[in-house]
Amino acid sequence: MTSDPSSAPWRATVLALFPEMFPGPLGISLAGKALASGLWALEARDIRASATDKHRSVDDTPAGGGPGMVLRADVLGAAIDAADAQDRPRLVMSPRGRPLTQARVAELAAGPGPLIVCGRFEGIDQRVIDARGLEEVSIGDYVLSGGEIAAMTLIDACVRLLPGVMGKLASGTDESFSDGLLEYPQYTRPQVFEGSPIPDVLISGDHAKVAKWRLAEAEALTAARRPDLWAARPKAPESGRKRKPPKITTGE
Ligand code: SAH
Repeated sequence: MTSDPSSAPWRATVLALFPEMFPGPLGISLAGKALASGLWALEARDIRASATDKHRSVDDTPAGGGPGMVLRADVLGAAIDAADAQDRPRLVMSPRGRPLTQARVAELAAGPGPLIVCGRFEGIDQRVIDARGLEEVSIGDYVLSGGEIAAMTLIDACVRLLPGVMGKLASGTDESFSDGLLEYPQYTRPQVFEGSPIPDVLISGDHAKVAKWRLAEAEALTAARRPDLWAARPKAPESGRKRKPPKITTGE
């Protein structure tokens, strides 16, 4: 699937054994509309097109033995070179990679857009990862059957940050992870749901009070659910010390 990759300001080039999985969910809603209007472009390339033998083989048994198959370095190397992405970040989706963060997503969204290699089977010959300087990126501590869905996850997270994609929406400044905190709880109509009302402060019209409440809720949630994020928070400028976890008023 190719959507005029040359003219869009940001593009993702995906190398996969199942390029027909794209755009898939990336063709829907915000990302899909932005793709259709040329705010970004997607080029899904078939790794198999770079196979050279008569069986078009892309994989072989692991050296040293063991189950499954490994993607061949020569085929993948040729596929990467054919994609002509020397000046762009070159990633490979891998459970061994550095876990993807919102900070890395923001960096990738601010650049020209990455080349992303999707593995399958047992993974990829190490030599092509080294020789092409691929950055290994994980989307979490679990194992998927292929890199395509992981690549979609990364692309979706980037695309929603591209200029114009979220329109008037707050474009991520208040969201989970944007300031090292999980997001505060959200509410909308009806005013009362199964006996439970929207917190008074949110309908008070007092913006300062709302902001204070939201910060306190975000801090409480983060301290309770993600002690790792809480510990890594920047020090409070006024005291120069790490803030104490606030009292938990919501969540678990
Ligand atoms: N044997 C490998 C797993 C291979 S899974 C191992 O134990 O590390 C097949 C492919 O799925 C991988 O090459 C990778 O591209 C993709 N994949 C699986 N889990 C992933 C994850 N958590 N994050 C990113 N990509 C993943």
